[in-house]
Amino acid sequence: MSRFSVVCALAAGLILPGAALAAPQPVSSDAASRAFALLGRDPVRLDMLLRAMPKGADLHNHLAGAVYAESMLDWAAQDGLCVSPAHGRILAGACAAGGDGVRAADLSGRPDMRADMIDALSMRDFVPTASDRSGHDHFFATFARFMPAQAAHGGDMLAEAVTHAAGDHVLYLELMISPQLGAVAGLGARHPLHDEAFAEADRAITPDLPVLVGAARQDVDAMEARMRAVLRCGTAQAAPGCGVTVRYLYQTIRTMPPAMVFPQLDFGYALVHADPRFVGVNIVAPEDDAVAMRDYGLHMRMFGWLAERDPGVKLSLHAGELAPGMVPPEGLRDHIRQAVEVAGARRIGHGVDILHEDDPDALMAEMARRRVMVEINLTSNDVILGIAGAGHPFDAYRAAGVPVALSTDDEGVSRIDLTHEYARAATVYALDYAALRDLSRAGLEYAFVPGESLWRGVAPYRMVAACASVPAGPVPASGACHDFLAASARARLQWALEARLHDFETTMIREAGLGAGSARSKGHGPA
Ligand SMILES: [Zn+2]
Repeated sequence: MSRFSVVCALAAGLILPGAALAAPQPVSSDAASRAFALLGRDPVRLDMLLRAMPKGADLHNHLAGAVYAESMLDWAAQDGLCVSPAHGRILAGACAAGGDGVRAADLSGRPDMRADMIDALSMRDFVPTASDRSGHDHFFATFARFMPAQAAHGGDMLAEAVTHAAGDHVLYLELMISPQLGAVAGLGARHPLHDEAFAEADRAITPDLPVLVGAARQDVDAMEARMRAVLRCGTAQAAPGCGVTVRYLYQTIRTMPPAMVFPQLDFGYALVHADPRFVGVNIVAPEDDAVAMRDYGLHMRMFGWLAERDPGVKLSLHAGELAPGMVPPEGLRDHIRQAVEVAGARRIGHGVDILHEDDPDALMAEMARRRVMVEINLTSNDVILGIAGAGHPFDAYRAAGVPVALSTDDEGVSRIDLTHEYARAATVYALDYAALRDLSRAGLEYAFVPGESLWRGVAPYRMVAACASVPAGPVPASGACHDFLAASARARLQWALEARLHDFETTMIREAGLGAGSARSKGHGPA
């Protein structure tokens, strides 16, 4: 195969781990880096190379925002829904007689109108106007505009998310979802929170939680069953998305009154305990919203109270998704710090305003020491906050030793995928292959899927002794590495990523004409 065709085959997933290769040989990290630099000089080839590159995880991915507008318009058509071209919305029912709505099914014959709808439901071709002034407002407004099309299609949405992940060669997704949100938030009306009497509110809410937990689990059962049917999982015709491992974060909404936020957090903790598919809790919605700003500290204290009671539940919190001018200066000074120090977050979503916080160097040093990882969403930060390139703290975090990984945030709304984010990072921040591979590994190192890590150190990545001398490939049939992997779901994913990286690097080195590599290391260093 030519260099181009091998890159194509890699991109299409046609070169499978272990296929066309004899017993795995160690790959030289230096050779892999040189091969990547050589093959990736052409920006188009770089994109293809990065698509083929195995990526550990996408840890910051809202399922509601992961779906492309085209799919939602198709579902709206199937379901007999109406759209309002004038308002760029999908409506919850059929068109009213004499109204100005258009049947979604009729958009197929009106391509210009359909294209305008796609623009209204996403960031595609966004241009500020007097009535649609900012990327921030347009972005967040899309959710209400398309939500009616999602109501009956959770399984189709999940199928689309894992299909895109498989196309990006991503092994693991941690999707943010909010089953039973309305009923859970509604607990606040029956059991109002008084000031900060969290224990009292918790006692009142607790008896109502099991029924809602059961309902949420059934929602996820149905969603996954539909996804498996759509993708024919478990059959000979299984689509590639079936191979992507999925876990969930219970996504709470910070723009509601405190009495409705606390039950969401309490419920999230209960759901994590009841269902191993839920591996953590998050809090989302525009951070600059008036209620979100007013109650930010209160929300962190709610998390802090829950964390003291129950430190085993892992938190990834949106914090610092703010830019100067968006809020008064004092609003930029301590959100990330509170998420880390008061709530006990193990991961921070966005963290864009870090350099405007009080004593950012000390905060970043603390995050580095506590291994608090920042989920970096480059395109989202650009289109929502107008923060990009040298103005983004990506390099500051890396220089301070704070762990980072790349994620998509809302790939459907932003019209991107994870490969796009890797390409953006590689180009804007001049990342070499070793840095990109570290980002890929960080996705699984900081995932909330349980189990010991395959790595005993991460700077640089060094494998645990039990597995360090075992060739990359399938899980060994016996021995210390087998036993180690058998006990850790996270390490098994990490092992699978290393096998895929090994095959990717071997092919890349051969294609670059650099031979099989000098076998100086396996890429993860000596044990
Ligand atoms: Zn987000």
